[in-house]
Amino acid sequence: MATPATPAASAAPPVAARPKAESPLRYPIEPPPSDGSLVEIALGLMWARIPMPMSLDHINCYLLRDRYEGRDGWAVVDTGLGIPRTHEVWKRIFGETLAGQPMTRLICTHCHYDHAGAARWMQERFGVPLLMTFGEFMMLRGVMGPPPDPLPETHRAFYHRAGVSDEQLESMVGAMRKDPFMPQAPFSYQRMRAGDVLQIGEREWQVIVGEGHSPEHACLYNARDGILIAGDQLLPRITSNVMVSPIEPEGSPLTVWLESTLRLAELPADTLVLPSHQGVFLGVRERAHEVVAHHEQQFDLIRAHLASVPSASAWELMKVLFTRLRSPVDHLMALGETIAHLNHLRAAGELQRSSGTDNIDAYARAV
Ligand SMILES: [Zn+2]
Repeated sequence: MATPATPAASAAPPVAARPKAESPLRYPIEPPPSDGSLVEIALGLMWARIPMPMSLDHINCYLLRDRYEGRDGWAVVDTGLGIPRTHEVWKRIFGETLAGQPMTRLICTHCHYDHAGAARWMQERFGVPLLMTFGEFMMLRGVMGPPPDPLPETHRAFYHRAGVSDEQLESMVGAMRKDPFMPQAPFSYQRMRAGDVLQIGEREWQVIVGEGHSPEHACLYNARDGILIAGDQLLPRITSNVMVSPIEPEGSPLTVWLESTLRLAELPADTLVLPSHQGVFLGVRERAHEVVAHHEQQFDLIRAHLASVPSASAWELMKVLFTRLRSPVDHLMALGETIAHLNHLRAAGELQRSSGTDNIDAYARAV
């Protein structure tokens, strides 16, 4: 997690976009239990699950057989939360399940704490390099952590303009400050760039960068075997949180998220997708189009609401889009995602924003 700006999004998506009843996705491989067991997906490619004490109760991590600096072992993709239970599972995987074969490298798809929360511990414990993109590493070093205290005036103004009351803001920021999973950031890394090809054991993995859920999210794609390690860039049953934060209030992350998602829809139809949560699946194109369709439905809800009232605040529109919010953190993420939809529609010329009563932003259809 981070400032009120950047929660660890995938850990608690505010909305579940279910595939339709006739979902064409297929799940060809039974997942491993979250106890240090491994399931073989292909030769030299293993699937582990790291448990998480939250409603999304696991993260998928992948182990790739590697030969690095003359050493045979396993490269690992993503870490789990930076908590003792995660450490225990990794010690079991390398000490028992893999009978002492070493870890060679750690690759983190992005900065969120379910993916990189144990990166520093793993780097130190196993003595391995950490590979990340520049944007993700700098985000992890720079702004992941509890919200600044006191909250900067720019952040207060952002939430006030969105229609958040002082009381609601205190409860959201308070919940972030109490978050028990804030990671210890690693100190150094090796940079991955979009288009890089990583030779890991027998396979070449192309780095495909996606934006919107996090600034420079790395997916790994092996064209020969048709395998995509997707991170949070494409999940089978939930949608990743895409939010605007007070760090970049005029940003339009949903615009680049939709572009990134549609790029994945161009991969071969029989690509096996290895996501960070839920099951390994077939149906990359169908799922990418489902995710885009989900956001189109959200746009339609905003359009319909603004056809029935002269204008609305972001907070009011959040309640139109998200009807089952429970916790203050849910509200924080849902509000950021609502503003992401509003900024996208503003950039497209469909909506206009003006300063309304009490300096709360009023969104209305563009005239
Ligand atoms: Zn994430």
